[in-house]
Amino acid sequence: MTKKLTPMLQQYLDVKQRYPDTILFFRLGDFYEMFFEDAVLVAKEVGLTLTSRNRGSDDEVPMAGMPHHSSAGYVSQLIAKGYTVAICDQLEDPSVAKGIVKRDVVRIITPGVVLDSDNLDAARPNFVAAIVAHTSPPNTSFGLACVDISTGDFRTTELTELSELAAELNRIEAREILVIDDQNHLFEALSAQLEKTFFRPRPAAFFDWNQLTQTVQKGVRLQEDLTTDGYYLQTDDVDQFAQTLIDYKFQNTDIVRQAAAAVLGYLVETRRGIPANIRRVVPYRATSFLIIDESTRANLELTETLMGGKRSGSLLSVIDRTTTSMGARRLRNWLNYPLIDVAAIEQRLDAVEELVKAPALRQDLRTALAEVYDIERLCGRISAATANARDLRSLQSTLAVLPDVKDLLAERSSSLLRTLEQSLDPCEELCTLIDRALVEHPPTALNEGGLFQVGFNAELDELIDLSTHGKDWILQFEARERASSGISSLKVKYNRVFGYYIEITRANLDAVPETYIRQQTLANAERFYTPELKEMEERILGADDLRKQLEYKLFEELRREVSTHTSQLLQTASSLADIDVITGLAELAHRKDYCRPAVNNDDTIDIIEGRHPVVESTLVGERFIGNSVHCNGTDKRLSIITGPNMAGKSTIIRQVALITLLTQMGSFVPAESATIGVVDKIFSRVGASDNLARGHSTFMVEMTETAHILNNATAKSLIILDEIGRGTSTFDGLSIAWAVAEFLHDEIGAKTLFATHYHELTELVRTLEGAVNLSIAVKEWNDDIIFLRKLVEGQANRSYGIQVGRLAGLPEAVVQRAKNVLDNLEAGQFDDMGLPKPGQRPGQQNTRQPLRTNTQYNPNQLSLFNAAASALAPEETAALAQLREININTLTPIEALNLLSQLTKSLEKTS
Ligand code: ATP
Repeated sequence: MTKKLTPMLQQYLDVKQRYPDTILFFRLGDFYEMFFEDAVLVAKEVGLTLTSRNRGSDDEVPMAGMPHHSSAGYVSQLIAKGYTVAICDQLEDPSVAKGIVKRDVVRIITPGVVLDSDNLDAARPNFVAAIVAHTSPPNTSFGLACVDISTGDFRTTELTELSELAAELNRIEAREILVIDDQNHLFEALSAQLEKTFFRPRPAAFFDWNQLTQTVQKGVRLQEDLTTDGYYLQTDDVDQFAQTLIDYKFQNTDIVRQAAAAVLGYLVETRRGIPANIRRVVPYRATSFLIIDESTRANLELTETLMGGKRSGSLLSVIDRTTTSMGARRLRNWLNYPLIDVAAIEQRLDAVEELVKAPALRQDLRTALAEVYDIERLCGRISAATANARDLRSLQSTLAVLPDVKDLLAERSSSLLRTLEQSLDPCEELCTLIDRALVEHPPTALNEGGLFQVGFNAELDELIDLSTHGKDWILQFEARERASSGISSLKVKYNRVFGYYIEITRANLDAVPETYIRQQTLANAERFYTPELKEMEERILGADDLRKQLEYKLFEELRREVSTHTSQLLQTASSLADIDVITGLAELAHRKDYCRPAVNNDDTIDIIEGRHPVVESTLVGERFIGNSVHCNGTDKRLSIITGPNMAGKSTIIRQVALITLLTQMGSFVPAESATIGVVDKIFSRVGASDNLARGHSTFMVEMTETAHILNNATAKSLIILDEIGRGTSTFDGLSIAWAVAEFLHDEIGAKTLFATHYHELTELVRTLEGAVNLSIAVKEWNDDIIFLRKLVEGQANRSYGIQVGRLAGLPEAVVQRAKNVLDNLEAGQFDDMGLPKPGQRPGQQNTRQPLRTNTQYNPNQLSLFNAAASALAPEETAALAQLREININTLTPIEALNLLSQLTKSLEKTS
């Protein structure tokens, strides 16, 4: 940059130099402008027109911009793509500024620190997280902190395994994760897994708790410099957080504090301070909740579907009957953090049951809750001073329904409902204050007046009177002038440049009174004023301006007053969210005929006529067939479930997992009855999912998931396996499946449901005392099968894959040919080249070429044991049969020798 720049561009570059990693939105009058490479980038990313300053000259500068009021949409698009946007505003009124207007960055917008509803999903939280690893082998541990500024939710925990950290981050669904730059490499696999999350490396000092105090103080200075409106925490508040973390007694408080320091520091970096709606930090242990790893969460489609990542079709979408956004977010939280403490689960179930049994009460509650706005996020906007008068009105109308909600919940027998009722604070005085202050439907703009009710403030009333009556006066003046001049088309109008004026069309100019003073000539009309009109104009406009200013000031005072109630409001919001979830779950139970499960610490899961909640609600014109499942830690530890394709194996094993999970989150369940012994972890390995993007083959993914289960499951866990080893050769796959089943049974002892097409696995019941065979019944009818969907004892005898293929619409020729191949394989027929006959078409001579020599073809792999056995020569088969018949105990040595000689002879031909 050798050219001399204008002072404005120089100012731009100075600011940009301090924020090199952001896109700088530079306020110039009513526009935000971007220059140089930012302009080129933004033009490309969001389609803004790229222009230039000083076009054609040597010092041409690329430039792109948008009116300031339409910036939000562009900011959203940019942050969704992972960019961060620095908003550089004018810090003084340009009309009074001496020299160049003072400008600086007032906030930095990133996906994890947004507050406006355009960038937030009402039904999910919006976290920014920080992770810190402590690696001193063999003890590794991880500190995690996350904060959602839109709701004030601030949590911290400590984890001992990278896999636990992955699971935790998966349920938090943070938009951004801060990592120490030196540790970035430790989390490479994690960042590949969390595709929608942006990782932000920061220097180690950023994670230093001791530096946080200085950072907060720096924030306070910045807020003063920038005259930022928001409400922020002070150093004392931050010290309180530190104390909470120390009191919680983590194994390694330091790493947790480091993570906490980073997320809080990030708020100062981006928002210029820690918003005051972050009232407390909630330390927790992941092991206090049912643990569900990320692939299990995905496989069970808890919050989104496996294919397409859609909410619709997930468990959450089926069970969500909440009425408020706070309730929707809380339900998600309950689903992500099911409990393991029987008493706590029972407490939730009691509450749900009470509302299931009281339909009128439930309906009244839902009606009242429909009036409830998102107070959590309102508090977020109030702290940031971006809440407008409508937001405060929404808060007031929410507070106004709380007495009804309290009345409805008074004297309930469920202890949880009683506690929730007591913690609802209707903040009567605040409610009355807002109600008295603001008009019922205030405008969104805060600087245009029209916010306050008459009677709220005497000074304001006077100004309102003057400005509204002034406008009446103008109307009267107009009527008077029409009458006296006789010009019926005479109009008194207003514009910003000339103020009030009298407009007279050209045709009537002859009749213009002499007292009128000409102001402007237009094509068809002339404009005039009178001293009387100008005098009134001054008074009206003055009053109007003063009114707007006063209303803005009064509004700020009101908002500040509301912000002092943040703690009570957030407590109330939290209770409302719980009430909404409980009411919604009761509604769900009622509508879908769910039952209350019995919960205990036994090692048994007993479900009578259970149903799959999602499949049940997607079936059209077909009834879902309920099934009973019993598993325990002893004689029904490992259930091998066989059955034809499409019979319902996956459905049944998933429904056991979902019913267990629903129980532990405190919900009724889709079953006739259920007794659930609380489990500590649920694992699932379902279907094959390629993850080529992450560099793993289907089989590798499958094996990684299986390894994770075997390394982490305990005797208290529930495991559902939907095929193991299908992604490799049949013998390899079967061997792995076999060994996995044995290991789960013998070494881990977890309750396991194993759905498989490897019928060979049904043999396990012979050797494993806790294994049972179950299958899903079908009926054969002519050449077709009818799915009965009933789980029965014993193993299935066939897979019926070909029949299912026909149902799916395979061409008849393919179906017939497949049957033909299957017949060959099952009969173990091989041609004279030792190759399996399926290659031979009926009625044709075998014209195949022998296989190329480098192809190691093993006929046994086609049809497992039967085929393998049948691949033997008849002499060999006979020899085997003879061997089987031998009773070693009665055989004399000489008889044995003779037999051996006879066998060797008979096999001579085959060698
Ligand atoms: P595959 O072995 O091919 O994976 P599967 O035995 O696992 O098949 P599922 O995927 O569980 O079969 O079920 C197939 C379909 O059958 C489901 O999508 C559902 O539409 C229907 N289904 C399953 N169970 C039931 C049931 N109990 N009642 C009614 N329909 C059911």
